[in-house]
Amino acid sequence: MGMEIHPLSHPILNPITMSTQSKSLRLADQLAAHPYAWPGGYPMFGIFSDGGACCKRCAESERESIGTTTGTDGWTLIALDVNWEDPTLHCDLCSTRIESAYTEPDDD
Ligand SMILES: [Zn+2]
Repeated sequence: MGMEIHPLSHPILNPITMSTQSKSLRLADQLAAHPYAWPGGYPMFGIFSDGGACCKRCAESERESIGTTTGTDGWTLIALDVNWEDPTLHCDLCSTRIESAYTEPDDD
């Protein structure tokens, strides 16, 4: 057979990384543009591949890192979620507390 496995002689874009990047970027843009779920107005946050949380501001300010993630550098957003009732959830990037839907501490 004429099939030979050539070592990579020139850089090619890994299709897995590309789709990871485009999904990651799409989630960042979605979070930055729509930080509250509709209907209901529930506060959204991003989830990184390592389980860390990303607030709406960092989704925007760190957009470039998120959109050029290697998939293993901790910048991959894998999902968005509503913070229903975790009053101690903080952004892993800027440490801002991410507001929750139902368990906001009382103002004092
Ligand atoms: Zn943040």
